[in-house]
Amino acid sequence: MISIAIDGPAGAGKSTVAQKVASRLGYIYVNTGSFYRAVSFYLICHGIKIDNEDLIENTLPKINFELKFLNGKQIILLENEDISQKIRSEQVSTVASKISALKSVRLHLLDMQRKIADENNVVMDGRDIGTVVLPHATVKIFLTASANERANRRFREIKKGDKDITFEQVLNSITQRDYRDSKRDIAPLKPAESAIILDSTHLTFSNVVLKILEIVRAHCQNNN
Ligand code: C5P
Repeated sequence: MISIAIDGPAGAGKSTVAQKVASRLGYIYVNTGSFYRAVSFYLICHGIKIDNEDLIENTLPKINFELKFLNGKQIILLENEDISQKIRSEQVSTVASKISALKSVRLHLLDMQRKIADENNVVMDGRDIGTVVLPHATVKIFLTASANERANRRFREIKKGDKDITFEQVLNSITQRDYRDSKRDIAPLKPAESAIILDSTHLTFSNVVLKILEIVRAHCQNNN
């Protein structure tokens, strides 16, 4: 199976880019952030506190979420309800970045992610895909951009929904998530050794997609 790992900090554009790359290659797109978000959404809905690790660990097997792929797009169902939009809130982002430091949560989700990549050609995005989930990924990309640019992009996205949030709040939230993600003990956010680093601060979305497709093609030619 072929796997393209795309890691990077919050708001670097991984999901939009990965989705497009997957559709151009005819692979399945897997957004692993949504796994952490689905678990967080469940914990919030059930009033489970994030500092109660034992309870979270015991709850994990009961969280009945599944991914479906519709026209190459990933949707996420929790007990058969489509929660793909609900898990995008700032509250869910913050809880996800906190519970993602827990070993039990990571191990539980790791198996699910590896299973999908064992059975399909995938473009998978996250924080630890090239380092932990798929250490033998065919191609590894680390997609980044300046914190200001990432906050700007996220701010514009949120504003479309007319949310009452300032740019400073978005920048602050992104910076804190990056800090937690890169400083945690287990599977911290960092480029894999063989990852190609792409800084998208001054690149358009289409440029980034084209660059990744070029990298994948060059890799496949060199290995034929
Ligand atoms: O990618 P996204 O921003 O949706 O991910 C939400 C949170 O889930 C991240 O801030 C990170 O803490 C966590 N995550 C992770 N490992 C992944 C994907 C996401 O720890 N592979």
